[in-house]
Amino acid sequence: MPEKILLVEDEVAISDSVRYSLEKEGFEVITAYDGVDGLTSAREQLPDLIILDLMLPRLSGLEVCRSLRRESSVPIIMLTAKTEETDRVVGLELGADDYVIKPFSVRELIARVRAVLRRADGLRDLDTASSLKAGDIVIDTARRLVTVGEKLVHLPLKQFELLKLLAISRGRVVTREFLFQTIWNTDPTYDTGTLDVHIRWLREKIEKDPSSPKYIHTVRGVGYKFTTEDDN
Ligand code: CA
Repeated sequence: MPEKILLVEDEVAISDSVRYSLEKEGFEVITAYDGVDGLTSAREQLPDLIILDLMLPRLSGLEVCRSLRRESSVPIIMLTAKTEETDRVVGLELGADDYVIKPFSVRELIARVRAVLRRADGLRDLDTASSLKAGDIVIDTARRLVTVGEKLVHLPLKQFELLKLLAISRGRVVTREFLFQTIWNTDPTYDTGTLDVHIRWLREKIEKDPSSPKYIHTVRGVGYKFTTEDDN
């Protein structure tokens, strides 16, 4: 069955061109042109992913995102204008998975759609995946072993989970909120220092130079991003 994408965008020209390209790539596309319809379609049609414009009539993209996150973990990619940087951060904090800045190339958007869907699959398979390779890091999830190059690295459970989650989300920002909810099963307001400490320990173990990390990058105010040399 084709993956179903809900596109919530009020600019008809953008909506038409994105829809056309997604359909050409084999996706099934449902469209909505304002926030209220978008929310209704999300609830009724249960899409595999939502592309959500932030500036929408009737109900803003942020409001749609906030409402959806209370009831669903459906992947969300925001469409934002360059000037909407604050909204972008808020959107990621509300639980959007990624964003694309307008004007964007449809090709770039489709690449993000695929990456976000892959990650959603990866998260579902998290417990069954046997090993994960990223650059010269190999994460053996069955035996809970990590090797960096030739070196075997021992990680405590939380650091192991943290690395696994970041590596699965490779190339994309993972918000602090998401890490807290997934790994600690708690709200980030509980203790924000915990995450920084674990990231520091993790870097000391896997990075050649922890003060200038090549794998785990800080995205100020938002979270962390895992990359390898192949991603640059
Ligand atoms: Ca708009």
